[in-house]
Amino acid sequence: MMSRPVRRGWGAILLAFLLSGGIAPDAGAQRVPISIDDYHGYTGTQEYLQQIARAYRGITELIEIGESNMGRKISVLVISNMETGTTIDAHVELRNMRRENVQNVTPMKPYQGKPGQWIDGGTHGNEYTGTEVCLYIIDKLVTGYGSDSQITDLIDNCVFYICPIVNPDGVYNSVEVGIPQRQNSMMIDDDDDGAINEDGPDDLNGDGKLTSFRYPDPEGQYVIDDEDPRLMVRLGRNEETTKQRYSVIREDRDNDGDGRRGEDGERGIDVNRNFPEGWYGDDNEQRGSGYYAASAPESRAILEFFTNHTNILHAQSFHTSGGFTYRPFARWPDSRIANKDLAVYDLIMGKKYCQLLGVEYPEEWDVEAAGGAGAGAGQRAVGARRTTGQAPARPTGQVPTRPTGQFPARQQAGARQAGARGVSVGSSAYEMPRQWRHPYNDSSDRPYGYGIFIDWAYGQYGAYSMTTELWNRSVDFPGMPEFNTADARIDQERWILQYQDDNFGGRFFMPWTRYRHPDLGQGELGGWIAPYSASNNAFPGEALRHVCDVHWQFELWKATLLPRVVITDVSAEVLYETGSASAGEVTYSGDTATIRRGERMGGVKVVLVKATIENQGQLATHIAEGARLAGNRQDAVWLLGDRDRTTYLQGGVWQRLGTIDGALAIPGFPSAGGAGAGGAERAQMMANLPPGIPPEMLQQFMQSMGMSDEPAAAGNVREVEWLVAIEGNVPLKVIVTSQKGGTQVRDVPIR
Ligand SMILES: [Zn+2]
Repeated sequence: MMSRPVRRGWGAILLAFLLSGGIAPDAGAQRVPISIDDYHGYTGTQEYLQQIARAYRGITELIEIGESNMGRKISVLVISNMETGTTIDAHVELRNMRRENVQNVTPMKPYQGKPGQWIDGGTHGNEYTGTEVCLYIIDKLVTGYGSDSQITDLIDNCVFYICPIVNPDGVYNSVEVGIPQRQNSMMIDDDDDGAINEDGPDDLNGDGKLTSFRYPDPEGQYVIDDEDPRLMVRLGRNEETTKQRYSVIREDRDNDGDGRRGEDGERGIDVNRNFPEGWYGDDNEQRGSGYYAASAPESRAILEFFTNHTNILHAQSFHTSGGFTYRPFARWPDSRIANKDLAVYDLIMGKKYCQLLGVEYPEEWDVEAAGGAGAGAGQRAVGARRTTGQAPARPTGQVPTRPTGQFPARQQAGARQAGARGVSVGSSAYEMPRQWRHPYNDSSDRPYGYGIFIDWAYGQYGAYSMTTELWNRSVDFPGMPEFNTADARIDQERWILQYQDDNFGGRFFMPWTRYRHPDLGQGELGGWIAPYSASNNAFPGEALRHVCDVHWQFELWKATLLPRVVITDVSAEVLYETGSASAGEVTYSGDTATIRRGERMGGVKVVLVKATIENQGQLATHIAEGARLAGNRQDAVWLLGDRDRTTYLQGGVWQRLGTIDGALAIPGFPSAGGAGAGGAERAQMMANLPPGIPPEMLQQFMQSMGMSDEPAAAGNVREVEWLVAIEGNVPLKVIVTSQKGGTQVRDVPIR
């Protein structure tokens, strides 16, 4: 059902020209054309993803993360330079207490060591605009690689996980079949009659399209529009009319004779109510949430993917409609969110979102960072010298219990003093714009929903998650005038129908034709052909392009905020060197032990290694709760050598770095403490001494290092040190590994 632009002639001519060596193919050329003149649906999306994966092998990987109940694929397109990046497991061999070189652990992909951004659509099957936005973003990313320096840099150093259709059955039914279906297809007995899927919508006249049925009805709420008799005008409550009243229903009949139409189709679980944060199973309160959290194959696939891909800091979920974005928690009030995250969400991301949409945001959001804040570029903090294995003196990434910035809180009936010090953030402190929302209803203390994906992604996984309800037809139609009369709504519908006539030759609207309904008698079939109606989804063509482009801009900007942890400097100084040493080997045969002298290994060196680690990205390496969430960890830096010939005298094989701030100043917040303070563990170190080194010399080295407790490091820079004894010429390397900030390795030059 897709209608794509057909490339005639020119494609072949251009290709021949390229093959003749006329010009070199541009790295960023569009190898797979994308159309915004129709919805891709499930089938078109799968085709597009496969074409993209074939055409851009070096920067994409198409993976199947699960399968729907009806056997359709849940696909994620990974976009990242597949030649770059590394993960900690590529450098630290896996081992456990009993067994060396543990086998059968799936190695991480190099892109799992890069900062990640998740983007999805089609969680609700009838909200397929999000799928188109995902495909548009894919097109912009892959075609921008090699031609746009910013996009190239992001694909080299970060990773995008794009899942255009979370709910393949719902999207398939909504787009290809024309039955709008929000839920997945769990084939549940919705009407408790012992039968499954026996009363869904029906294509009554067998024309392959689902439209509407209108029939004269004295109780009906509709009349035919005077200006455009194709349109049905809904009467106001108690509105009188002398015209013929009509009822308008979906093209459907009562298949199971229970007096209801379309009450038991394929639909099953609302995937976006099935996540294990604030999940609630009472169908009266939260309909369709499933028998238990993660009981839907779709939510389970996403949970498993996130659990295996711990590098995601941004998680965007595209829904429809309304033209706004909402952030966590849908289930909980803002008091559940760390103030620092609220500042990142509202004052940074919300502000940018409003700017992109060209709408106003609260003036309280225009605030600078607190004095000396933000770990600005160039500001360096010296990292504490620490030893491994020691618990931090206080939790890292500590959430400020009280904000410390300086913008006046909104006056609230005397509840707050205007001009008082202290930033007040969150939906109780300022009026949220219509386009950027906290969906929890603070005034009535009422959740927006239960078991919502973004609540889980933020609250349990630790990503800046948000949902966008794409498409507001009053503002997103290019060229639509503002209608201000009492008839504004019907004026708008007339305009849209005319727009469809002019731009799509009327093919999205079926003329009304007489039809005798088996249950309701004589009437007419016609009206908007599902899935086109402009009500819940962006209209194809320029309107859809406009929506796609705004949200591509927002996602691109979000990607530029990702943390980037890099090793900016590594040095090694040999402080002491013994004479020579030899390797030895002991073998046993019965009662006899044989000691064999091995090759000469050269001396034992005591080396002072220093490394400087910097988060050159904008955001910190975790959300405020970050490293303390189960499954999350602090950033760490490793010094690796041959483990049998390297002894750590000070600074263990790995050292904690806490959560490293980004370069971006968070309004109202000074840079938070990062690494935990640590002290020397002399006794442990002394016990680890290699043979052959005079103890008094080691003592001297340790004292020269100043091994007392030091204050926690702050800002976006960490300086770490190790004192190691190495036998022979063991090569050393430093590896910094941040769950969401990236993994990097540098060789240590030993002179
Ligand atoms: Zn939705």
